[in-house]
Amino acid sequence: MYICKCLSKINYPLYTMETTSRICIACHKKLRGRADKRYCDERCRNAYNNNRNLLERPIKDINYILRRNRKILENELNKKSAQRKTTRSRLARLGFSFTYFTHFFSIDGNTWHFTYEYGYRAGDNDEILLVKQQDENW
Ligand SMILES: [Zn+2]
Repeated sequence: MYICKCLSKINYPLYTMETTSRICIACHKKLRGRADKRYCDERCRNAYNNNRNLLERPIKDINYILRRNRKILENELNKKSAQRKTTRSRLARLGFSFTYFTHFFSIDGNTWHFTYEYGYRAGDNDEILLVKQQDENW
């Protein structure tokens, strides 16, 4: 990056001679120039951001699926009743993913899968039993 000497004088407090402890967060090479610089150049900035997006993407995707699953279960549950029924095909149609859940319990041979406080277990045929985890009930 080219820095005009006039600008460097105006922005003097942003410059430092102590470059030894300052490294590019992308390539870990020593940085020169402004004290608030984090990358060597645009290429390093892009490389860093692309890599971070790649690493964070699966987490964001799974969080999105979990939030959607939770919302679907919440909507399916009748708030008047502690337990309610729906069907596997209906949940699938609503976009529910049976692959992702936060935890599960096995009680009396039945496995309840939970997405946060909302859980379900398979009933007969296509039937799904829903439950909201409440301190008194679970
Ligand atoms: Zn760099």
